[in-house]
Amino acid sequence: MMMKRTYIKDIKDKIGEEIKIAGWVDVRRDHGKLIFIDLRDMSGKIQTVALPNHKEARDAASKLRSEWVVEIVGKVNKRPEKMVNKDEVNGNVELEIMKVKILNEAVTPVFGINDDGREVNEETRLANRYLDLRRGRMQKNLRMRHEVMKFIRNYLSDNNFTEIETPLLTKSTPEGARDFVVPSRLYNGKFYALPQSPQQYKQLLMAGGMEKYFQIAKCLRDEDTRGDRQPEFTQLDLEMSFADQKDVMGLTEEMFIKAVKELYPQKKIQQIPFPIITYKEAMEKYDSDKPDLREDKNNPDLLAFCWVIDFPFFEKTEKGGWTFTHNPFSAPKPEYVEMLMRKEKIGEILTTQYDIALNGFEAGGGSVRNHKTEALQKVFEIMGFEKEKIWRDFGHMLRAFSSGAPPHGGIALGLDRVMMILQNEPNIREVIAFPKTGDARDPMMDSPSEISEEQIAELGIQIKKSANKSKI
Ligand code: ASP
Repeated sequence: MMMKRTYIKDIKDKIGEEIKIAGWVDVRRDHGKLIFIDLRDMSGKIQTVALPNHKEARDAASKLRSEWVVEIVGKVNKRPEKMVNKDEVNGNVELEIMKVKILNEAVTPVFGINDDGREVNEETRLANRYLDLRRGRMQKNLRMRHEVMKFIRNYLSDNNFTEIETPLLTKSTPEGARDFVVPSRLYNGKFYALPQSPQQYKQLLMAGGMEKYFQIAKCLRDEDTRGDRQPEFTQLDLEMSFADQKDVMGLTEEMFIKAVKELYPQKKIQQIPFPIITYKEAMEKYDSDKPDLREDKNNPDLLAFCWVIDFPFFEKTEKGGWTFTHNPFSAPKPEYVEMLMRKEKIGEILTTQYDIALNGFEAGGGSVRNHKTEALQKVFEIMGFEKEKIWRDFGHMLRAFSSGAPPHGGIALGLDRVMMILQNEPNIREVIAFPKTGDARDPMMDSPSEISEEQIAELGIQIKKSANKSKI
């Protein structure tokens, strides 16, 4: 009968039994008579030992090298008292090897994976990410990211939210960053844009009567990358109908508090309810709109959340016109609606925008939306858009709002940044399985890369000779 595989974490409960495990050779220590193989699977590590009396198994074990993939059948023995390692999960047991089956060999790894990898050059780590991901720290980061996403999905589902996917091939949205564009083969000369966020679609879902939406969504912005930025990143995006500022902030706050309590019980939230400060106060007191309010910045387990509200709606452009500070689809605060409609004292209009800062990082932001057609038109007029352009670019939003859109509001949280802070990592690349380098490349896939002449011709585009240069 085929023996079922045991996960390494479960071995400690199987003393005296014969079991089969599978995984990677972490280290091999050849002590002459005894050969120790530390084997690793996704659940943990175990010391296995080949004894001289099982000759065949011992010969096989002597061939093994780091990162070879093997299946081992063996007997679970209690370690002699003085060999017990109390700090390890399986420190009180070891597996006496009976049979070794080599499932795959491995070339000598380009870097060690038994440590946290912080000393290894990042380009090399990313070029060999499949190997880098095997290290304990990366395994933990990705598994905790999954736990957080699972928590979010359950929490929001329990609060009557529906997870809905929105398109990746869409149209340029005015969200402040540069769009990634995709040339259309079927409509030469036309382009899709990849979404900077699902902002417009989620509002259209509110017009569509879905009432409570969320999505763990990929957002794409063609910006210069920085430590806590990536060309593509993940947001927890949500939107709710018949909701005001308090509702969205309350829901978000409760979600964070419960997630930390359940998944990071060692961490302490400095202040509950989260403090709320105005943009003006934040700038005057901390010279930052995402202040770091931690009382003790050396404590890695302290989380200081803080809401920032009352941002100006518009700011001056370099050319002397106006543009939005955060989101053109936000509603002004109720007391400024009149001013917006009359396009008066534009610089003084405050928006319903709320940002959430965590330990000095912007963890997310959202607003109550402008669900009135005329008011949304005014925003675009203030930004200097002609009527024709407004209808060409945003006609779908204006038509949706005039067909019975409920009042609504929402928020988006930067999942990568939140995970970076929760996992005490220095940058978001450490909590993303396959991030781009600081200068937006994927050295493993060698992307971005050229495409064939045929592909270019089909798309009806031309590459300038001088374009073969990098912009950085
Ligand atoms: N779409 C906004 C953003 O990506 C968030 C929101 O207002 O919901 O920043």
